[in-house]
Amino acid sequence: MRLFEETGSRSCGYFPTNWASWLNWMPGCDGVLNYEKHHDRSAELLNKADYLFCLDFNVFHRTKNFAPLLASATCVKVLIDHHEQPDTASFNYGISDITKSSTCEMVFDFIEASGNDKLIDANIAKCLYAGVVTDTGSFRFSSTHASVHRMVARLMETDFDHSLVHSSLFDNFLENRLRFIGHVLSNRMEFLYEYNTALIAISKQDLLKYEIKTGDTEGLVNYPLSVKGIELVGFVIDRDEERKWSFRSKRHFDCNTFARKYFNGGGHYNASGGNSKDGLAQTVEYFKQVIRENEQLLADVKKS
Ligand code: 5GP
Repeated sequence: MRLFEETGSRSCGYFPTNWASWLNWMPGCDGVLNYEKHHDRSAELLNKADYLFCLDFNVFHRTKNFAPLLASATCVKVLIDHHEQPDTASFNYGISDITKSSTCEMVFDFIEASGNDKLIDANIAKCLYAGVVTDTGSFRFSSTHASVHRMVARLMETDFDHSLVHSSLFDNFLENRLRFIGHVLSNRMEFLYEYNTALIAISKQDLLKYEIKTGDTEGLVNYPLSVKGIELVGFVIDRDEERKWSFRSKRHFDCNTFARKYFNGGGHYNASGGNSKDGLAQTVEYFKQVIRENEQLLADVKKS
């Protein structure tokens, strides 16, 4: 926000829904509007805006109930994103670069390209660092190019405490989440070794019993990938309005195409999501059916 002020502009951040409470340490978080809670204020501010920067999504419907307001906004819409297949017609300008590690890296590039590098302070550095750490799996994914490390080196010149950011992101949960993970790994994880695939399905009762809140299931999808031979993980949660799917692959299985073809979704090559209106048992059965249909593809991935 300070960066905008210093450049003589005023800004407002929006999030389409609520966010995980363990992210509330992030500087500037208290100035972000949750659209689900602040419909009128969001519309009022958006109607006055000259520019709308759309970050880390490339099609309006990903923002759920916020989407109609975004679509009808008359300001200039700029896309900064790294997902596959952007809906370019919805934006006036933009960059959509699937080779980039994260939208935070692209925001950093944007700040530098606009000649405002000197305005990057410790608060901005903390936020950009948090985004790049989470999107690169702590610098392990193949999208972690040299440019990411160069960016981090520049951010660290601001003297922010990077180790505190890690703790705030990864050591900031409540006991119930850890017990929930134990339960899920013991009782809700299935290995379909013949298809090099694992599946986790979480019911509404599980969420209620362990008092699971937004963001508490983040990262759980990755656990089965640590098992030798597992190339694809399907992870589904029974949410009120839909069954929300996440997909992760290790190497040469295209999760984006898979999610688009079978689960009305999309995302990245190795990480995607989708949804189903079917019940939990039904959508799990459907997943197993499409895995059987893709048996050859999954076998080839293992050989590659
Ligand atoms: P996650 O599994 O963490 O929710 O999402 C993994 C990636 O897939 C993220 O980059 C996210 O933006 C994208 N993604 C998740 N769900 C959907 C969806 O329903 N549609 C599309 N197009 N992308 C999704």
